[in-house]
Amino acid sequence: MFLDRLGSGEDSLEYTDGFDTAAGYAKDALDLMAESSVSHTPRNFALWYAHVSGREPKPSEALEALVKDNALTDDDAAAVYETFFGKEEAAAEVQRTSEQIETAVSEVLTFLIEANAGAETYGQSLESNLGQMATADSMDSLRNAIETLVFDTKKMATQNELLHNRLENSTQEIQTLQEHLEDVRHESLTDALTNIPNRKAFDMNLRQEAMNAMESGEDLCLLICDIDHFKKFNDSYGHQIGDQVLKLAGMILTQNVKGQDTAARYGGEEFGIILPNTPLDAACNVANKVREAVASKRIRKKSTGEDYGAITMSIGVALFRGGESLSELIQRADKGLYQAKDNGRNCVVSETELPEASDSA
Ligand code: GH3
Ligand code: MG
Ligand code: MG
Repeated sequence: MFLDRLGSGEDSLEYTDGFDTAAGYAKDALDLMAESSVSHTPRNFALWYAHVSGREPKPSEALEALVKDNALTDDDAAAVYETFFGKEEAAAEVQRTSEQIETAVSEVLTFLIEANAGAETYGQSLESNLGQMATADSMDSLRNAIETLVFDTKKMATQNELLHNRLENSTQEIQTLQEHLEDVRHESLTDALTNIPNRKAFDMNLRQEAMNAMESGEDLCLLICDIDHFKKFNDSYGHQIGDQVLKLAGMILTQNVKGQDTAARYGGEEFGIILPNTPLDAACNVANKVREAVASKRIRKKSTGEDYGAITMSIGVALFRGGESLSELIQRADKGLYQAKDNGRNCVVSETELPEASDSA
């Protein structure tokens, strides 16, 4: 939640500190990491180095808030890293891979140009040898012409084989790079904690589905779901158990939508569900199905069987109106969510049930 409020930074993780300064920061970073008992991974180190150097106020604020709660986990650190530096890293990786693909493609083009030049020379040599054969006035000159022809043909065949192998290698290299690019893209659209689509994926998807809905005239609905009294849950059982619950909620939501629907982590303990080709009443049914599925799940600690009870969710539902901005749609779903909280939580409120619905309909 706080990550959301703070927004993401545009800063780079590449600093040039003098040796003594860098050594001091590194020591402080390692000491703080030890205090918080997070793993000594390169990413965590980069994050704490940024923090102690004092250059990154936003991630520092996020880390300090978590440390103050005395509940910092590796998953939290990963979320902070992803929020503030992950996008930049993914963008840089996409850029690097695109450049590699470009190089590989231009190599292929070079081979093809070389091959064309080779074929042209071979064609000229064929022509001249055939001419010599036709006008040969002795066995020797005929033999000479044939020998040259065989030599050139063999050369062309070798060149072709070489070309074939080089093309095959390049094709494979391009394919590998493409797969890598797809992995990076997938990672940049996935929430690190819950492993479901993240806010960026949600925004992209909603924009696409709104365009589709305007084109097809089909209904598009949006659900905004928020875990009830989650702060209390964290306070009672700890942030780490809270994180496990967020993972579980992501799983339940994903299991309860299908096909073209998207369940994404919208931020903190909020989730967004996009329902294309779905009228408002059907969307309310989906919302209630999700709500019931969440409420019916008892949360237990695997190792000891300790029972943490169940969590509940409040959900706001809105229908997209062709031509409106996406923030208007999200705002209506949000209003439904606040109303659901007001109505006592663990319930669904559709935009038609909002007090102002009668004036704006
Ligand atoms: P309400 O029913 O009104 O939604 O109450 P709430 O306590 O759920 O709402 P509030 O906005 O007061 O608090 C949200 C809580 O969600 C506080 C924050 O610690 C917790 N939270 C947000 N993101 C994470 C996370 O990534 N992991 C964990 N464990 N908790 C988180
Ligand atoms: Mg909330
Ligand atoms: Mg909440």
